[in-house]
Amino acid sequence: MQGLMMQQPLLVASLLVHADRHHGDQEIVSRRVEGDIHRYRYRDLAQRARRMANGLTALGIQPGERVGTLAWNGYRHMELYFAVSGSGSVLHTLNPRLHVDQLAYIIEHAEDRVVFFDLTFLPLIESVAPRVKSPKLFVAMTDRAHMPRAHGLSGTLMCYEDLIELHSDAFDWPLLDENSASSLCYTSGTTGNPKGVLYSHRSTLLHTYAAALPDSLNCSARDVILPVVPMFHVNAWGLPYIACMVGAKLVFPGPALDGKSLYELIETEQVTLSAGVPTVWQGLLSHVAERAGTFSSMRRTVIGGAPCPTAMTTQFQERYDVDVLHAWGMTELSPVGTVCSFKAHQRALSGEERYAIQAKQGRSVFGIDMKIVGSDGDELPWDGNAAGDLLVRGPWVARQYFGGDDVPPLRDGWFPTGDIAKIDADGFMQITDRSKDVIKSGGEWISSADIENVACLHPDVTMAVCIAARHPKWDERPLLLVVRKPASSLTERQLLDFLDGRIAKWWKPDAVIFVEEIPLGATGKVLKHRLRDRYGSYYL
Ligand code: ADP
Repeated sequence: MQGLMMQQPLLVASLLVHADRHHGDQEIVSRRVEGDIHRYRYRDLAQRARRMANGLTALGIQPGERVGTLAWNGYRHMELYFAVSGSGSVLHTLNPRLHVDQLAYIIEHAEDRVVFFDLTFLPLIESVAPRVKSPKLFVAMTDRAHMPRAHGLSGTLMCYEDLIELHSDAFDWPLLDENSASSLCYTSGTTGNPKGVLYSHRSTLLHTYAAALPDSLNCSARDVILPVVPMFHVNAWGLPYIACMVGAKLVFPGPALDGKSLYELIETEQVTLSAGVPTVWQGLLSHVAERAGTFSSMRRTVIGGAPCPTAMTTQFQERYDVDVLHAWGMTELSPVGTVCSFKAHQRALSGEERYAIQAKQGRSVFGIDMKIVGSDGDELPWDGNAAGDLLVRGPWVARQYFGGDDVPPLRDGWFPTGDIAKIDADGFMQITDRSKDVIKSGGEWISSADIENVACLHPDVTMAVCIAARHPKWDERPLLLVVRKPASSLTERQLLDFLDGRIAKWWKPDAVIFVEEIPLGATGKVLKHRLRDRYGSYYL
């Protein structure tokens, strides 16, 4: 028997409509690229998003077509989140930290019709534009007074505020199929090119409900949320959508992610909840410690993307009375998978025992099933000891990559995360290692394969292997191990100079170690775990 309830599709635009109707007065505060602070309300966001939706239609953007953004966290980016997805096209957030070659690849692969960019990224856009066939249209996210004059994009460059002013705010959000695509985010491939994760309206809405729950990110209308995690990185962990759903005040930091700027914003805007990777919080904590400051309003911070060190949790909680929510997720998971919030019986535990729990990545958010399996594929027990490949499934987990040009990732309906984990009897998951061959520095991926390929182009290099070595500030940094050609006197400096310009600057390994040989397995594969065991602490 069928249920007799309405078939209301789950759509991204409905979040905005709700925020406009029920929280129209709530503020959105943004630090702009120009350095000043911009303020407006959800009501203004909704109105300008409707104008922009008309603007996109006028530009000829069709449903399903991709619209790129290369932008910081700010109100204009937020407007695009809703104008683009809400009108039926696909918001493609581009990561400005990528090398220009990769950006060009991603823009071409996604066939972006237009790219919106913050002024900071004009030089990047100028380098990318001649390398791509699509798009032929770029929109600077600024007003007429700040439009750049000298540029190599003439004829193809438009002004964001012109698009807003020119178009009416009368726009009816279309009733889309909830399974249609809403946004796209590329993640670094372990091998080969970056892969696109294509979210749907339905997956985004379900993720929003789940991520807002009290034992997840715990967001409400009384919160002032500061997403430090970029809007170009997995939709800022879903916070722009969550804030609309619950009616929270939003504070966007723009490009200023240093400790001083963040602290000023947290205090002046009375932020209650922030979210970011450990590296960002290190900068903030050192700044606050230096000036013997306190947090007058901030009570919770979500830390994820990389393991949160216990020293950081202790400092936040004991010194500043800010609760740490350690979370784990992935681009392929929209991204929230687990959050470390206590169960009732754990409240009585000693401080040390509680910190041991908080070092774990946490328990599954409803909607995400997880399991760990051994090398034979058999499921391992949740005893807190057995470690195996972590597999997940759920309505906001990717089943395939965009373009379909990669091997479908699922194993019997489960998504292999590439993380190695154990799970305890209470269901708390802890990552112990990573089987995927990538390096995560300051919350962003570095592809070891790309660095190896470029290093091997040097005529004196026989073999080059890049591994993730632990780093006190960046969590991980690349370390390059190289076998030189016989009789070569290639130096570390010469090889690093060779890499300059061929890979993104921050991808450059911090050190090169010349070795006699690289350990290989039976099938000729490099035994990276052996190298990690031996050299993984090199930077500590
Ligand atoms: P995000 O940075 O939003 O988590 P990514 O797709 O860039 O998403 O990275 C996902 C990967 O980052 C995970 O598979 C895992 O290897 C690592 N990761 C994410 N969160 C944590 C965490 N809390 N602890 C350890 N590793 C993490």
